[in-house]
Amino acid sequence: MWQYLSTSSSLVCNRISAWVLLLTLLCSVINNEPRARADAVDRLRPEKLQALHEAIESLKAQRHEVSLNSGFEDVRTVIHAHSGFSHDSRATIDEILVGAKEAGVRVIMFSEHPSNKYNYFVDGHRGTKQGVLLIPGAETGGFLAYPRTDIQSRKTDSPQAFADLVRSTGGLVFLSHLEERMDWEIANLTGTEIYNTHADVKNETRFMKSLYSPLTMISLANSIKQYPQEVFGALGDYPADYLQRYDQLCQKARLTGVAANDSHHNQVFRIKVVAGGAVQLEDALGEVIAKLDPEKFLPIKLLSAGKKPGDVIFELDLDPYGRSFRHVSTHLLLTEVNEQAVWNALSTGRAYVAFDWLADPTGFVYQAELGKQTWQVGSEVPLQTGLQLHAQSPYAGPFRLIRDGKEVGCAQGTEFSYAVHAPGVYRLEVWLTLAGEERPWILSNPIYVRAK
Ligand SMILES: [Zn+2]
Repeated sequence: MWQYLSTSSSLVCNRISAWVLLLTLLCSVINNEPRARADAVDRLRPEKLQALHEAIESLKAQRHEVSLNSGFEDVRTVIHAHSGFSHDSRATIDEILVGAKEAGVRVIMFSEHPSNKYNYFVDGHRGTKQGVLLIPGAETGGFLAYPRTDIQSRKTDSPQAFADLVRSTGGLVFLSHLEERMDWEIANLTGTEIYNTHADVKNETRFMKSLYSPLTMISLANSIKQYPQEVFGALGDYPADYLQRYDQLCQKARLTGVAANDSHHNQVFRIKVVAGGAVQLEDALGEVIAKLDPEKFLPIKLLSAGKKPGDVIFELDLDPYGRSFRHVSTHLLLTEVNEQAVWNALSTGRAYVAFDWLADPTGFVYQAELGKQTWQVGSEVPLQTGLQLHAQSPYAGPFRLIRDGKEVGCAQGTEFSYAVHAPGVYRLEVWLTLAGEERPWILSNPIYVRAK
């Protein structure tokens, strides 16, 4: 994730002198631009962050007991995470595990960028460490791949051949970064990303531009201290393009929808004092973006006064693991927490995506019912008289039922029921209204109702 921000960070640096000029002009992008829509820059206004934070806190008191029981354990899982094996992350497994514990994540499915310096399957993070199940995998050729044997050196001549190779090992394969491959028609997939944090950030052009301003940087650093999760979540939007494509694809094949956290912890900007009293701007990977002479820039001279080489005088840390893990996750309905159970849930769509930072959705149930018989999310169900779709969530929100890409039902509350009269692919969304803004909260996998 956030390679886009890396690119803009180098632009920021090329313009470092313009930065400081801007600083002296007391220009603030955040406060002066028109607000045509609730984009990130608008959401980052301090009063909005505060109002949202208070709304999230007060919502906690309204948690309802969910009486439906799926019969499975609801396990928060991160899919699509990078560690220091990947060229664009420096994270150790210990750092990642701290993030997992902060966010209540119990399974991490890694997606390293393959390289000849390591073998993602053989060397990758695996097994249970500090109570977190780790599963190695790769982000490669437009897929998230979780093979069950080592295939790193195996060459394939097409995306379809690669997907088939992963599946031939008993592995799982998901389309990744859907925005780059909306026209792909691949068979034999396990599923697709239905949300990707990095893709979500790409369209925040106004926010990206705002980073040219040093005042925005300083203001952001201050906001992050107070409202870290709200600042991260300001970049989050309903993934309409992903879901539109997902709805099309699901009419052809059962596909498990997952969230891609795309975590790297590589969006960190530090101004550090170096030998001789000079200072430099570095990124998370330790790369020097710009060298600065404090004598030429008064604000930096003031910040670096009395500091010694190695001291950090300013830091903007946008994406620590705990924060990007808490933002969104894929909830798997598991019989127990082990690799085989994860495989079973992902192979059958027993999963839903949730923006956990808004509210804890654990216990959400979406199932089909006929008398005493139930089918869990992800199931194929034969159409028959009396068939109902039934859901409960621990917080009240508008439920939106989508059939083959079109909304066919909507209700407010903590419970939703729908009498099914037509075959189709039915997926459910739950939204929350917080501080005056409706936000997507839960995006369920579908239930596939088939004509008899
Ligand atoms: Zn990635």
